[in-house]
Amino acid sequence: MTLVARHGALSDIGLHRSTNEDAFVVQPPLYVVCDGMGGANAGEVASGLAAQTLAAEVTAGRPLLEAAEAANAAVFQRASENAEQMGMGTTLTAFLLDDRTARFVHIGDSRAYLLRDGALEQVSDDHSLVGEMVRDGRLTVEEAAVHPHRSILSRALGTEARAKIDEFTVDLLPGDVLLLCSDGLSGPVADDALLLALTRSDPQAAAERLILEARRQGGPDNITAVVVRVDEAVAAADEEVTLVQDADADDDTAELPFVVVVDEADASASVADAADALAVTAAALHAEQPGDPAVAAVADATRRRRRSVRRLGVIAAFLALLAVVGATGAFFLSTLFFIGVDDGRLAIYSGVPAEIGPIPLHAVYRRSVVTYDSLSPTARTLVDEQELRDRSSVFHVSDQLGMWP
Ligand code: MG
Repeated sequence: MTLVARHGALSDIGLHRSTNEDAFVVQPPLYVVCDGMGGANAGEVASGLAAQTLAAEVTAGRPLLEAAEAANAAVFQRASENAEQMGMGTTLTAFLLDDRTARFVHIGDSRAYLLRDGALEQVSDDHSLVGEMVRDGRLTVEEAAVHPHRSILSRALGTEARAKIDEFTVDLLPGDVLLLCSDGLSGPVADDALLLALTRSDPQAAAERLILEARRQGGPDNITAVVVRVDEAVAAADEEVTLVQDADADDDTAELPFVVVVDEADASASVADAADALAVTAAALHAEQPGDPAVAAVADATRRRRRSVRRLGVIAAFLALLAVVGATGAFFLSTLFFIGVDDGRLAIYSGVPAEIGPIPLHAVYRRSVVTYDSLSPTARTLVDEQELRDRSSVFHVSDQLGMWP
């Protein structure tokens, strides 16, 4: 029997922070979430460097734990070279799919969850002051959730020359859903709401729902969710017991093989890194482009159908949101962006790509002179996605698309 993994991922700045210090990597079979800390933008340096180092080391064939230790060394060294970044650190929670298991490395208070048979289980320990106190029996889970010192970490990556990193494995079954998230999600959002979002069959829709839930709860921190769903492959011809990545080239949940979220404020290293990430994405998309026009037409139809399904989910989420928060809904819409096409030209839209009856839930935020028709097929795919992004992220993508010549 063959297992197939599909993923979705999203990071959001939240409603109260000026930068996004979370980072994630989706590079099947590797999935990573990091939540950085440190003043003067050092947090985003730490999380981005840790995520990229881990991914690079795993790609180079290094065992997962060694790769995580290399990430620790990279952040620690960078911090020791730069006074402004002294003391910076990051959480790191990651897993590597291997055959029928997920092998994890974990340090800090980002979390890994497993949804199986309708039950949600946290499979990582929180390396925080209150997390240790809960394990010692000195605090209940409920007391920990509202404790004033709940954000103090007992362990982090990059703050010491050697880090004590947890390593464990989870044996996978068809139907399992794995979630990696930063505390900006697990803090404000209750377990039953996490569970409900994760029951969606489309992992990207699940990730988007999770972000919306955290924002609905006030979005006090940066929010990141990576969702991986493992299913039995349909009509597998061979009897081999292997876990393979989804080979469906048009699966829009699998079109961003490597994404590192960075903030536009860090103009040097992180922007270059984001460009690299996008270049990897573009190369992968290009490689997947089917040559046969008939195949492309079928692929387009599938993509459109998936998008409309996702839109229905977005509409449902926003109807629920609007009903609950009333006028505040307009504020939520104003903090979400996507890239679309206005009269043949590219534009950044504020809101979501959906309508309630005749009322669009979006408006043109900034118009480009660049036409959709002038884009490469790869770039068009990025536009067709209409992926929801925060302001910083949508401007990154618009720059990569050359929207402001
Ligand atoms: Mg956080």
